[in-house]
Amino acid sequence: MTFEEIGIESKYIKAIEELGFEKPMPVQEKVIPHLIKDDSPDIIALAQTGTGKTAAFGLPLIQKSNPRTKHVQHLILCPTRELCLQISNDLAEYSKYDKEIKSTAVFGGASIERQITIIRKGVHIISATPGRLLDLIKRKVVKISKIKTVVLDEADEMLNMGFRDELEAILAETPKEKNTLLFSATMPSEVRKMANKFMNNPIEITIGKKNVGAENVKHESYIVHARDRYLALKRIADYYPDIYGIIFCRTRKETQEVADRLIQDGYNADSLHGDLSQPQRDKVMGKFRIKNISLLVATDVAARGLDVDNLTHIINYNLPDDLEVYTHRSGRTGRAGRLGTSIVIANMKEKNKLKQIERQINKKFDNKLVPLGKDICEKQLFHLVDRMERVEVNNERINAFLPAIMQKLEWLDREELIKRFVSVEFNRFLDYYKNTPDLNAPAAERKRGDQKRSAGKRAADGFTRFFINLGKTDDLRPVDIIGMINDYTNIRDIDIGEIDIKKNFSFFEADQTYTEEIMKGFKKKDFKKREINVEVAENTKRESSSDSHKGKRKRSFKKESTKPRPKYKRRKRK
Ligand code: ADP
Ligand code: MG
Repeated sequence: MTFEEIGIESKYIKAIEELGFEKPMPVQEKVIPHLIKDDSPDIIALAQTGTGKTAAFGLPLIQKSNPRTKHVQHLILCPTRELCLQISNDLAEYSKYDKEIKSTAVFGGASIERQITIIRKGVHIISATPGRLLDLIKRKVVKISKIKTVVLDEADEMLNMGFRDELEAILAETPKEKNTLLFSATMPSEVRKMANKFMNNPIEITIGKKNVGAENVKHESYIVHARDRYLALKRIADYYPDIYGIIFCRTRKETQEVADRLIQDGYNADSLHGDLSQPQRDKVMGKFRIKNISLLVATDVAARGLDVDNLTHIINYNLPDDLEVYTHRSGRTGRAGRLGTSIVIANMKEKNKLKQIERQINKKFDNKLVPLGKDICEKQLFHLVDRMERVEVNNERINAFLPAIMQKLEWLDREELIKRFVSVEFNRFLDYYKNTPDLNAPAAERKRGDQKRSAGKRAADGFTRFFINLGKTDDLRPVDIIGMINDYTNIRDIDIGEIDIKKNFSFFEADQTYTEEIMKGFKKKDFKKREINVEVAENTKRESSSDSHKGKRKRSFKKESTKPRPKYKRRKRK
């Protein structure tokens, strides 16, 4: 079938051909012929993400719009601002050769005045998030008493996100004779209820298998030293402030240990494993379901009884012995039409296992770098600012306290106030991540397992072992290295460990707190006209080298023992 055959006019066909649409996708083929008609039925269409639902409703709505009336004729409700924008961009593309049809997107978190101005100029199709639309209806900017169509796009997602009240309020204002279209990846009971209440004898169209999760899962790997597994886990958790996931461990003992450490470090975590009694397990699962716990550390067996649809992440803290199990683990995310991420924290020795898994799932791992302290700080900071922008202010309650607060803070100007409010929440991240090292196993190692760099010994605790491409042949002496560290980092109290000068290259150890600074300092520097190359050395082999310099402290400045990493407490999420 062609778009022409299902009733699309040529000016729209021209536009979508330019987008690469050659023929209708199944959902379009089934839905469009119904919607093209003036008197179209209500439709429920169930299809996975990526099946072309936008054009299935978008094309007929554009074609049916009457450019001569200025009011809103079709309303598309969707769960997020990204989706809203995407839909209105898609509509603009479809109507590229029909400039009379106007559509716009309205969503929260952006200036409402601008949206009002655009709507007042006259738009025919609005894609909107429920909250913002309701606001505009209340302000009488959008009048929906005359609309012809309401599309509920990603209905399951909207209900999951708690938009039920808003949706009902909006639908209640729409005229009886309108056309209602519901698009969803899944049909949970809440969606069914909504359909029963607001739709009129809907035709139900299902495309493909319902709800196959695997396609919506991204697979990512992080390669770190085995000893840094836990720290990497924390960084990942901190990098995704809204993380809601299961962390899989191999044994009960490991499960308990990881959970205990996370709890101690202030995360909303708990453990689920076979050593717990059934009532204990039920309790943990219950808390996890209502998101009272956001990170559940579990063994494979114990997690079996748990069915949660909206996990953002699965983290393989350790890979299962039986690699087939990986598929079951990762299949717990990316459900119900959502995207999910399955993460593996692995060390270099496990690369073969990753390859095996890739063959099994027929997908490649995206090898990601463990976020650096500054990346996490930035992410958390913007998350906080975002929350501040969106927070609902309970005027009634807060007004009583305001005069006193205003008076107390009177002496602070706006900038100072913002800085302080942000710092109250944020200082602990800044403190915790101050001077923390790069946890990534060196890139060179991961790529080609370069031998010379792994020829060293293991660095002492708290130290990082560096490789430098200079040696005896360059007349390099330990004092040169110490001098360079001082000069290039400009930090005077970096503890320096063993320095091991070889023929053509050398190793030196330094306080791991300053790994980043040292790496940065040595960039693009020369030694006797040779460009210096410093890398973090891989320290797996234990061997003794005859010409290492054990005379550790040659520097006269302050010696500082390496402090344990600072612990920080995160406030429990509500
Ligand atoms: P859904 O809403 O079902 O998740 P989208 O409407 O976003 O899916 O479409 C997914 C992708 O498929 C988009 O990139 C879209 O441009 C493309 N697409 C839609 N219809 C067709 C078609 N008939 N031919 C080729 N590509 C299409
Ligand atoms: Mg869609």
